[in-house]
Amino acid sequence: MNYEFCDVIHIEGLKVFAHHGVFREEKEAGQDFYVNADLYTDLREAGLTDDLTKSTHYGEVSLLIGRCLTEQTYDLIETAAERTAEEILRQFPRVRAVTLELHKPHAPIPMEFSTVCVRIHRGWHRAYVALGSNMGDSRAYIEEALRAFSTDPRIRVEKVSSLIVTKPYGGVEQDDFLNGVVLLDTLYSPAELLCKLHEIEAAAHRERTLRWGPRTLDLDILFYDKLIYEDDNLIVPHVDLHNRDFVLKPMAEIAPRFRHPILQKTMQQLWEELQAREENGGRTGEEGKRER
Ligand code: ATP
Ligand code: CA
Ligand code: CA
Repeated sequence: MNYEFCDVIHIEGLKVFAHHGVFREEKEAGQDFYVNADLYTDLREAGLTDDLTKSTHYGEVSLLIGRCLTEQTYDLIETAAERTAEEILRQFPRVRAVTLELHKPHAPIPMEFSTVCVRIHRGWHRAYVALGSNMGDSRAYIEEALRAFSTDPRIRVEKVSSLIVTKPYGGVEQDDFLNGVVLLDTLYSPAELLCKLHEIEAAAHRERTLRWGPRTLDLDILFYDKLIYEDDNLIVPHVDLHNRDFVLKPMAEIAPRFRHPILQKTMQQLWEELQAREENGGRTGEEGKRER
């Protein structure tokens, strides 16, 4: 976590009468629930200025928690907590992350117990996504993708690079590409974000016929916070980004000091190194031939 988001506003024991539960009796009669919340934020400016507009109003957050838990009824406290955490993150922009505990001390457990709760931690994540297209109206496809991001309640578009025209390489004869990168703030997990990107590609009639061939739209996750992750469907950071001018040039434009978590070099450094390599006779090996 960034050091500036280590401050916390803590709400404890907020009582809300609501109707969540799997059993019909619970839905009909209702019961008391209790909420503890840690709102991760930066309180330095508010602390120095004594100005509420530089902080997050805990009264308003409490009222929002009350509304989230009473306006709808869920079988599971997991779902009630999930929805509540998401609303807090969406409605209070200074809150970067939240730990939310939802207690149900009168849950139907046929034994003596003091409380049962779920505790979840949710927050905004910063993802850099590469944009590429070389079929049809490339600019329109990329603009449509940006619109899809900005209308998604779990995404905020923070920065968009210039779009650049680049030559294809990798062996397949095809038109020039239009490329760029975008910085997103997102509530999606990496796997969920990849699904979202695939949905947007599908809406642009992306077809996977020829490997590394022409495409209406290609959206790749470059970075997700400082995460280093690999499974069958997803590798983060993108495995070949440091060999790609059409990624490094726009990254150097919008995030020159962002450091690759594995290579430990900034985008500006990687871009300069790639240019130097290309001037010295181009890339070597398989990686250099990879297509976007
Ligand atoms: P490249 O990944 O070399 O740029 P590509 O974008 O042409 O190639 P696609 O056909 O679009 O490749 O994607 C193939 C698969 O790559 C996707 O279905 C996805 O599961 C996987 N993949 C792995 N890591 C990533 C990532 N960081 N971003 C997007 N897709 C990824
Ligand atoms: Ca892709
Ligand atoms: Ca790609």
